[in-house]
Amino acid sequence: MTGFACRSSVAEAIAWTDNVFPLLKTEKIAIGQSAGRVLAQTITSKVNVPGFHRSMMDGFAIRAVDIEQAAESEPVALRIAGDIYPGTPHSVPLSSKQTIRIMTGAPIPTGGDAVIPVEDVRVRGDQILVSRPIAEGKHVGTPGEDVVSGQRVLATGRHLRPQDVGLLSSIGIDAVGVLCKPRVHLVTTGNELLPAGTPPTDFMITDANSPMLESLVVRDGGDVTSAGIVPDNPECILNAFQAEADIIIVSGGSSVGLEDYVPQLLAEHGELGIHGVQMRPSSPVGIGTYKKRIVFLLPGNPVACLCGYDFFAGRTIRKLTGRGTELPYSRQILPLGEPLVSVEGRKDYVRVQISEGRVTKSTRQGASMLFSAVQSDGFLIIPEESSSLATGTLVTVYRY
Ligand code: AMP
Ligand code: MG
Repeated sequence: MTGFACRSSVAEAIAWTDNVFPLLKTEKIAIGQSAGRVLAQTITSKVNVPGFHRSMMDGFAIRAVDIEQAAESEPVALRIAGDIYPGTPHSVPLSSKQTIRIMTGAPIPTGGDAVIPVEDVRVRGDQILVSRPIAEGKHVGTPGEDVVSGQRVLATGRHLRPQDVGLLSSIGIDAVGVLCKPRVHLVTTGNELLPAGTPPTDFMITDANSPMLESLVVRDGGDVTSAGIVPDNPECILNAFQAEADIIIVSGGSSVGLEDYVPQLLAEHGELGIHGVQMRPSSPVGIGTYKKRIVFLLPGNPVACLCGYDFFAGRTIRKLTGRGTELPYSRQILPLGEPLVSVEGRKDYVRVQISEGRVTKSTRQGASMLFSAVQSDGFLIIPEESSSLATGTLVTVYRY
C-alpha cells in the first residue's frame, strides 16, 4: 500500500477528460421522443407557415375599401354571404359590400383583405353594420409570417426543447436524426455490499451508490446499464468492463487500499490518465480509458461518489447530451453566516444550510454521511485559491 504520488487539480482532470471525449453514433427518432436530445442534422423548412392567408380572429372577412367611409354617424352595411371554417376554403369570391363570417384559422376568401373582429360590428339580420374603417391586412396572417420556406430553423447540436418539437411538426417533419444517448455502464465494487432492498447486516452495508448513480445518469440524459455488485476481484472487474458502453463508472476501490484494484487494472489494460484530484471529498477519483470507453473511478463513500460524479462523470455526460458543462443545480448568491476554513490548493465541496438568507456549513461533512446531503439545502465550492472565507462573503450555493 502506497499513497497517491501526486494529485491533479480539478482543472487538469477536466482537461484530460475533454481530450478523450467519445464520439456518439446518431439515430433517427420520432419527434415526440426528441425533446431533451441533441439534434444531429440541420433542419431547413420546405414550407411556409402558415401556407395561406388566414384569419387571426373570429369575425367577418371584408374588403377594406368597402368600409373606407364608415363612421359612427354613418355606419356601412355589408351583407353576410356565408361562413368559413378552418380547414375549408370558401368557394365564392367576396364581392363588393359583402362579408363572410370567418373563424380564427380559416382561409381568407378571395377578394377579402381584412377581418373585423366580431366584437367590433353590430349584426342586424343578414347584415353587419361597421362604424369604422380598418386597414387592409388587419387581422390577416400572411404566408410565411412564422416560417419561410428555405429558412434554416434548427442547427446541428441543438438541445431540443418542447417548442422545437412543436415547430418541427408544424413544418411537416415527424422524425429527426439525433445523437444516441451515451451508454453508461455502472460497475459497483465492494465485497461488503448488499444489493438495494436488503437490510444491512453485521459488517455488511447496503449499496447506496448504484441507485444514486443510476438516477444521476438518467437526470443527465444517459442510458444506464449495470454490472450489478462486483466483488473486489481484478478478474471480475475486468470482466464487467467488457460491456457495450461509451462510459464506465466504477464505484468504490478507486483509492490506494489493498483491495483497490481498479486504478492498477486500468493502468495495465487501458490508460489511467488521472489518479487523485486536489479536492475534498472525492480526492481518490481516477479517470482513464478502456478500449474506447471513458472510465471514471469514483470513491465508494457516497458523498464523495456524488461529488465526483457531478464534477467529472456527470460533466462529460451532460456535455454529450447537450446539457452543457455547468453543474445542473439552480444557484443562489448569498452571504456566509459564519467563516469557512479551507486549504489553499484544494477545492472544497461543502454541504450547507440556508437560514434567514445566510449560509452556514452543515454540521456533518464526512464523505460517508449521505443523510447530510439529504438534509442540506445545497453545497458551495471553495476554490483552490482561498484558504478561508470570512462571514458575509457572498458565495454561490448550488441548491440540491
Ligand atoms: P472504497 O472507495 O471502496 O475504499 O470505499 C470507501 C467507503 O465507502 C467504505 O466504507 C465502503 O464500505 C463504502 N462504500 C463503498 N461502496 C459503497 C456503496 N456502493 N454504497 C455505500 N457505501 C459504499
Ligand atoms: Mg472498497
